[in-house]
Amino acid sequence: MPTSSFIDCERVYGAHNYEPLPVVLARGEGVTVWDEAGKPYLDMMSAYSAVSHGHCHPKLVAALQAQAAQLNIVSRAFYTNKLGAFLQKACELTGFEQALPMNTGAEAVETAMKAARKWAYTVKGVKQDQAEMIACAGNFHGRTIAIVGMSTEPQYKAGFGPFPPGLKVVPYGDVEALKKAITANTAAFLVEPIQGEGGIIVPPAGYLAACAKLCKENKVLMICDEIQTGLGRTGKLLACQHEAVQPDAIVLGKALGGGILPVSLFLTRKEVMNVFTPGDHGSTFGGNPLAAAVGLAALTVLQDEKLIERAHSQGEYFQTQLKKLHSPLIKEVRGRGLLIGVEINANYPAKKICMKLLNRGILTKETHSTVIRLAPPLIITTEQIDIVVNALQDVLAEAEKE
Ligand SMILES: *Cc1c(COP(=O)(O)O)cnc(C)c1O
Repeated sequence: MPTSSFIDCERVYGAHNYEPLPVVLARGEGVTVWDEAGKPYLDMMSAYSAVSHGHCHPKLVAALQAQAAQLNIVSRAFYTNKLGAFLQKACELTGFEQALPMNTGAEAVETAMKAARKWAYTVKGVKQDQAEMIACAGNFHGRTIAIVGMSTEPQYKAGFGPFPPGLKVVPYGDVEALKKAITANTAAFLVEPIQGEGGIIVPPAGYLAACAKLCKENKVLMICDEIQTGLGRTGKLLACQHEAVQPDAIVLGKALGGGILPVSLFLTRKEVMNVFTPGDHGSTFGGNPLAAAVGLAALTVLQDEKLIERAHSQGEYFQTQLKKLHSPLIKEVRGRGLLIGVEINANYPAKKICMKLLNRGILTKETHSTVIRLAPPLIITTEQIDIVVNALQDVLAEAEKE
């Protein structure tokens, strides 16, 4: 079939809630994906960080295949011989006491919001239905109605109201604003250690630590959304560890599924997790043995292959090379580890740069119309980084002439 017919078929039978680049992918291995005609591309998106281990990691594929032939879905009506070990590994790695498994990131965030509200009523003593949640301007926590109710991106909300009450927004990176927003009814402060979808925004140094202190003083749960920044992406296991912050709770997703399955977790201490009693909350697929086997393997590979250290060293190299580009079209190069944003001057559309990169065999997508995201699998080699930087240099030179 010609490329256009795959695209046409998706467009005819699929909802138009995405606008994909015109490439039809058929295979992946490591940092490389191939289109259905066999042309290779270097993947600088890694599915918004879900593919940190690289495409089709052999150990993860093996874990998937072995478990798929054993037992896959039984629901949480029964115990399995896989879930406990996965949760134990996740808790031991991150330093939390207990974990609640879901599938997508948005579900884990919703779980965190439910836990925080119920904790506010049952532990903190907030009056019924008065609990408040504070999030940050520019946040991205997923797409459910409650979550987009906290979004400051007009398109994410338009036409989807009304939204649940009790959701507040403060500017990102502003401790004083958070201080002012906290009341006796505040259950939780939900924050991304680095805003990913918001444009790879790194908050001022000391921000997370100051927020953690403020939350503690006011008996507010600090919940870090590490769905995109966690599991090594920024050069630490968790991005909040750059400021030595251990929040009250975190949510993990994306790379937790090893680039193979949707696997997410809400992790916290017992005092908070205890608010959930049988029947309060659940998920048919959450914690299924297939997901648990792949999740456990994903965490094991992360450690065994030193992917966190790799993200740190390769990220430093990538950013150093990008900063040498000196194109008048580049406004800023920023990020941490292998979560990198190249901000393009607003008068040239970043999307056009992405199209030109696509033609040169580099896959990425702009975020917020001016930022080019460079967030490859953590296994990327120095040679592959050089290829991307050279391609970007050529593309920028071409764009400058237009
Ligand atoms: C992607 C993302 C989510 C949502 O995850 P889904 O699996 O798409 O529901 C939530 N928070 C952050 C920070 C994310 O990057």
